[in-house]
Amino acid sequence: MFLFKKVADLHHFLHVRKKQGQTVGFVPTMGALHQGHATLVRQASNATDIAVCSIFVNPTQFNEATDLRKYPRTPEKDIALLLESGCSVLFLPDVPEVYPDGQQSKLDIDFEQLDQPMEGVHRPGHFKGMAQVVKRLLDIVQPDQLFMGQKDYQQFAIVQHLISVLHLPVKLVMSATLREPDGLAMSSRNMHLSPDQRAIAPLVFQTLNWAKEALKVESPPAIAAAAMKALTVPGIVPEYFEIVDGKTLQSIENLDEHDHVVACTAVKVGEVRLIDNLEMKNL
Ligand code: AMP
Repeated sequence: MFLFKKVADLHHFLHVRKKQGQTVGFVPTMGALHQGHATLVRQASNATDIAVCSIFVNPTQFNEATDLRKYPRTPEKDIALLLESGCSVLFLPDVPEVYPDGQQSKLDIDFEQLDQPMEGVHRPGHFKGMAQVVKRLLDIVQPDQLFMGQKDYQQFAIVQHLISVLHLPVKLVMSATLREPDGLAMSSRNMHLSPDQRAIAPLVFQTLNWAKEALKVESPPAIAAAAMKALTVPGIVPEYFEIVDGKTLQSIENLDEHDHVVACTAVKVGEVRLIDNLEMKNL
């Protein structure tokens, strides 16, 4: 595996190989890697000739300075995991390398409301920063395929929109959410859970599964309200539970009027914020 910290060095390396006809798969991450990330890297490495993974904790997508400071950083462990996942190139830039002209130059894109609900309510400015870094990293790496997780469903939808409105020549591939045996979605943030918190965290996935069953007999608004109640237990504070159209991300009233429906939720377990989602319907 090659490691580059400078854009110019990465460019040079990729330029030579692209000229030889090799294809590039890209997995952007913020590090503290787990098996969910490894799956994305393996997918990239199976589908393309060169799997590039970036680790960059992007300051512009954090709306709370303490969250940015506390974001876990485990570089040695990350490198070991990438080595065993078929990663060809690790891109590890610092902030000035990604933002040579400063962090202010945000992308001016109409997200058509995709950034408004759910995470948009609870993390103002997050998606502007996320879109800014994804666009910048795509400009740097210029991959043929981009691999992102279903775990961050709203993020995926916004990146899909960004690629489409900017006519970027890259194929976006969705990777299924990897879970612990008890259903908890793998996340870099799980390592901050105490044993007691870890024990109750699977309630999130259990509630998503319950909602899928319950939707067979009750309306989406009723199920969403009941799910919020079910998630309100000692140690957990739910932020939202929304049953949305898979394309527009707007809450739905009636399951029959939509072909693709996803339930998305975010909860706080102590100081740790967890998000998850589950497809309710896909025709
Ligand atoms: P992050 O480092 O958390 O920004 O995540 C980097 C990429 O990994 C994003 O595309 C995430 O959606 C994806 N990802 C995070 N957790 C998982 C998971 N449990 N399963 C699959 N993909 C994941």
